[in-house]
Amino acid sequence: MPGTETFDLFIVGGGINGCGIARDASGRGLSVGLAEMGDLAQATSSASTKLFHGGLRYLEYFEFRLVREALIEREVLLQAMPHISWPMRFVLPLHKDMRFDGETPASRLLSLVLPWMKGRRPNWMIRFGLLLYDHLGGRKILPGTRAVDLTTDPAGQGLQDRFTKAYEYSDCWVDDARLVVLNARDAATRGAQIMTRTKVVAARRDGDLWRISLQTDTGMQEVTARALVNAAGPWVSETLSDVVHVDSRAAIRLVRGSHIVTRRLFDHDKCYFFQGNDGRIIFAIPYEQDFTLIGTTDADHADPDDPARISETETSYLLDFANAYLKTQLTADDIVWTYSGVRPLYDDGAGTAQSATRDYVLKLNRDGAPLLSIFGGKITTYRKLAEHALEKLAPFMGVSDKGWTAGVALPGGDLPVTQVADHKVALIRRYPFLTEKWAERLFRAYGTEAGQILGDARTATDLGRDFGATLTEAELRWMLTHEFAQTGADVLWRRSKLGLRLTDRQAAEVEDWIKARS
Ligand SMILES: Cc1cc2nc3c(=O)[nH]c(=O)nc-3n(C[C@H](O)[C@H](O)[C@H](O)COP(=O)(O)OP(=O)(O)OC[C@H]3O[C@@H](n4cnc5c(N)ncnc54)[C@H](O)[C@@H]3O)c2cc1C
Repeated sequence: MPGTETFDLFIVGGGINGCGIARDASGRGLSVGLAEMGDLAQATSSASTKLFHGGLRYLEYFEFRLVREALIEREVLLQAMPHISWPMRFVLPLHKDMRFDGETPASRLLSLVLPWMKGRRPNWMIRFGLLLYDHLGGRKILPGTRAVDLTTDPAGQGLQDRFTKAYEYSDCWVDDARLVVLNARDAATRGAQIMTRTKVVAARRDGDLWRISLQTDTGMQEVTARALVNAAGPWVSETLSDVVHVDSRAAIRLVRGSHIVTRRLFDHDKCYFFQGNDGRIIFAIPYEQDFTLIGTTDADHADPDDPARISETETSYLLDFANAYLKTQLTADDIVWTYSGVRPLYDDGAGTAQSATRDYVLKLNRDGAPLLSIFGGKITTYRKLAEHALEKLAPFMGVSDKGWTAGVALPGGDLPVTQVADHKVALIRRYPFLTEKWAERLFRAYGTEAGQILGDARTATDLGRDFGATLTEAELRWMLTHEFAQTGADVLWRRSKLGLRLTDRQAAEVEDWIKARS
């Protein structure tokens, strides 16, 4: 808990936007406090599809600003965190039934100029979209689009034989929950106070300051700050109306998205981009070495306090969609895990959930001490969003309005993208007891910091008890000491995804070990 100091900036919400802003602000020399009512990334920011992407689909909505910013950002982010993010190739099988969502501007334009297409998404138009995608965002590292013959290319292996042609393009993967934690860690290293399991229950203006009431398991506390940032994600409107008591005309649209996880369905490391006959798309992505991740859906979600859970309709939709493409025919019995999250989208009055804008809007309220509220956004644009937030706040805070985070590595990411393979080899050479999969997992989570967890260990037993799936006491200690983890769910479902591999009994042992330590 903080002392009685006045923060320059206080942030409500420990998702990617709150933690990204905390990092940027503390790097500019501001004193920053951040309160997260649960665990870091416990809400939307651990439930995404985990892509740093421009969003090929958004081109159909003519969202060129968003797509361009996100495309440029992919490579900036990849270079700052080549451990938790990596390039991925997306295989887009072609077939004649692919159709536009009738609501998109591209679809409306097409029905005017080429009415006989009847909403079909012709191959040449997909090629054109990919050409735009390749060139809109100054791509330097990632390879461009190519045509793929699915009858000979390994990428065809997972698909039904009726798919013979595809295009293949690039985007990047990112471990979303670890991205949040690494931003929080970096912010803390630069002086920010990150308070988890701390709820902001009230905030009121008092002269030039905010008086902010915080609630934890142990009681209430008040802090003061010169400016307040509302990065409460799905709770952004509730925070304005019930916590800050400020009227806002900006509305939020909550759109739930769900994913299913199955055992690994294909033997290559590429991802599939499946197009439906209603303009919607889903991905099937290699996941956590031995699994496949399939998603996502778009369903309106009324109340942020209602836990986001996959519905039966969403489950059938994803299974049917994937089964229309994959060789392996899935049933509900193949699902080993599901997760759902709620997109806090800026309400632009769009008709359907999938057509609501994915762009972000920052609203500054100056009826006294500054209040900045964040609406919408994507994992991919979090760093730019933080820069824009600081640009808006800088005049009141007396700090530079120039960004600094582009090109600055997150913890463990201080290596060139081209040296990732060498670092993994070096890790195994230094710790020969690591299996290749174990080394891969540690490197992908901790990057150049993996050696700090392994220390002087000469054998696996030097790392303490093994709870299963290579989760050792040494790693648990790191997560609790350096990564703000406090419970079994924090370590098994957010700092890692080892929850997919541990039995209920092993998970309970992890929980008991954590409790005994605290
Ligand atoms: C299904 C799905 C797929 C997606 N896929 C992608 C993708 O592939 N790529 C991409 O770029 N983006 C993707 N996104 C979008 C991205 O995940 C979100 O834009 C982003 O995570 C939102 O982050 P946030 O910080 O605004 O919200 P959140 O992560 O929800 O954080 C807000 C936090 O505020 C906390 N909070 C709320 N009220 C209080 C309070 N009073 N006191 C303290 N704490 C409080 C909450 O507990 C929460 O942790 C996806 C989203 C979804 C749902």
